[in-house]
Amino acid sequence: MGIPFDTGGTYRVGARFGPEHIRSASALMRPYHSGSDVAIFDRLSVVDYGDLPVVPGYIEESQRRIAGGLLEVLRAGVVPIDLGGDHSIALPELRALAEVHGKVGLIQLDSHSDTSEAYFDQPHTHGTPIYHAIKEGLVEPARSIQVGLRGPIYSDRDYAIPREMGMEVITGVEAHELGMATVAERIAARVGDAKVFFSFDIDFIDPAYAPATGTPEIGGFTTWEAQSLLRRLAGINYVGFDVVEVIPAYDVADNTSFVAANIVYEFLALLARAR
Ligand code: MN
Ligand code: MN
Repeated sequence: MGIPFDTGGTYRVGARFGPEHIRSASALMRPYHSGSDVAIFDRLSVVDYGDLPVVPGYIEESQRRIAGGLLEVLRAGVVPIDLGGDHSIALPELRALAEVHGKVGLIQLDSHSDTSEAYFDQPHTHGTPIYHAIKEGLVEPARSIQVGLRGPIYSDRDYAIPREMGMEVITGVEAHELGMATVAERIAARVGDAKVFFSFDIDFIDPAYAPATGTPEIGGFTTWEAQSLLRRLAGINYVGFDVVEVIPAYDVADNTSFVAANIVYEFLALLARAR
């Protein structure tokens, strides 16, 4: 489903057009996942549920409508894959997930921790959802991990805060040095058998491959590194996914939407392999 909300953006905006472009790019996704030898649609029943209701410009009302829309789907036993939208949608996603599943573990691939308490003295932006999700008791920090943090930051507190909140953090530099096989082992060990929400901020990928995003950071990961990492993360009890922060107006040859569609395809392969 799409969640075309982008009023949480603090720099570039326009992620409300992410879902329609990711859907368009997904036309090239074929049914057999060669990377993990699975016929995705033989094992999964998949539907494009359309977009959840949002109110441009009104973040708290949009949060209510997003969470309400997701609850209906979650209560039907569906594992949602949400197309953002900016990363502020993670808070209502997690509110709905926690209501149905209880506290969840979090796998977050992102250049940023999104654990600021506020931006511009306001609690809800795309830089704050994980802070509030933990404070609201929606996420189990001991079963949560952030990977890929990099770029210019305000102070060393930016990386200390998510760790003090109880999450594991593998920075971008550390992930490059460890390699994706070791990063995958660390992720799997961290989340264990918890119910897990997987949040993929497209800015995890280097802007050379995915330029159309809200807050691009160089020194990122290749598309192959992302595929290699995701394919090693089978066997986890996923209850939801998202891909966020695609802003098509900044794109070149639809590259970013194409990357995002392929990330969704990798998520589908992970679910198919679990069946
Ligand atoms: Mn983010
Ligand atoms: Mn980010």
